Amino acid sequence: MTAQGVAILGSTGSIGTTALRVLARHRDRFAVRALTAHGNAALLREQVDAWTPDFVALVDGNGAAPATWRRGAAALVEAATRPDVDIVLNAVVGAAGLDATLAALGAGKRVALANKESLVVGGALVADAARRGGGVVVPVDSEHSAILQCLGGRDATEVKKLVITASGGPFREWSAERVRAASVPDALRHPTWSMGRKITVDSASLANKALEVIEAHFLFGIGYDRIEVVVHPQSIVHSMVEFRDGSVLAQLGVPSMELPILYALSHPERLDDAGIPAFDAVAAGRLTFEAVRHEAFPCLGLGLAAARAGGAAPAVFNGANEQAVALFLEGKVPFGAIAEGIALALEQHAGLAGGNLDALWHADALARRTVRETLGC
Ligand code: NAD
Ligand code: MG
Repeated sequence: MTAQGVAILGSTGSIGTTALRVLARHRDRFAVRALTAHGNAALLREQVDAWTPDFVALVDGNGAAPATWRRGAAALVEAATRPDVDIVLNAVVGAAGLDATLAALGAGKRVALANKESLVVGGALVADAARRGGGVVVPVDSEHSAILQCLGGRDATEVKKLVITASGGPFREWSAERVRAASVPDALRHPTWSMGRKITVDSASLANKALEVIEAHFLFGIGYDRIEVVVHPQSIVHSMVEFRDGSVLAQLGVPSMELPILYALSHPERLDDAGIPAFDAVAAGRLTFEAVRHEAFPCLGLGLAAARAGGAAPAVFNGANEQAVALFLEGKVPFGAIAEGIALALEQHAGLAGGNLDALWHADALARRTVRETLGC
């Protein structure tokens, strides 16, 4: 069997570097043909030396880079549509990943999708692009990988509900007041997962679970009233599916992204991989579940309301969240301002249509501007 060509968009990030660790163990099956990064030229250069891909792009870096490297955001689309690429691992963070997802699906590629924001901002367009171009989306997100595995190819009509687990983040037991005043180091101290800064803050606010409910809705065609979120602090049960007869299947494993990344590459096949951390039920010990404390984590409810509103509301939610999280990480606003900024943006831009890409980018820009202006930055 000839190796399948892989493009990694966002190769210098948490998912990108983890994916390269996985791919190093499967060189017979997969060949890295394209690598892209935003600004980390030094790490990208190391990766290029190790993997010798044909296509390299540094989207934003100002520093010196070899003349053969592409520059600019269009390079993501170029990498995602190359004829020698079969699988596009989209590990870019934020709405910036959407164009490449659409282009890859339009070109008939498999998209191993870590960039959940693609589905949140443009879920209907992503489904359309896949239908027209013959591409498929396979989720990298651990909860959605779990659901895909539990579904085992069965139809959405056989599903009573999806149960998405959430670790609860570092503030799981904090009072609502204390959460609002949390510092950047507090928010970046995730109890079970090591990830990029933006998703780590999203996990602390539970905005990440709202993004994941929307992601699940578009991936699996399940209505929002049939998707539930439950807190599971150990992050061992990655999610569950309840079928029409009441039977519930769950997928378990240690909290590591290596398995969901490998599965997104090989689905529906399973590959041997001695490097995947083994699960030990006794070592895992007690597994507990609890309800979400919505009063302390308003971002989840705001995201769910945006999801139900539809149109451009999920794009407004996402854009407002991205902007507010960036301001929080810059130390300009308190943690509680993330939810406030999102709420204001959703209120001011309610009812926007989202039928095409221009409308969605317009909604995204409006949301970001509202957050900057109302949070006084
Ligand atoms: P990260 O910040 O560690 O890495 C992001 C990567 O994208 C970097 O390589 C960066 O250079 C690149 N990038 C950033 N902005 C860009 C832009 N505007 N244009 C082009 N490239 C850009 O993030 P991460 O934790 O690896 O997360 C990546 C995506 O995967 C996010 O959508 C996140 O929600 C999702 N995800 C991550 C994890 C995890 O464990 N880290 C788990 C599930 C889902
Ligand atoms: Mg997840």
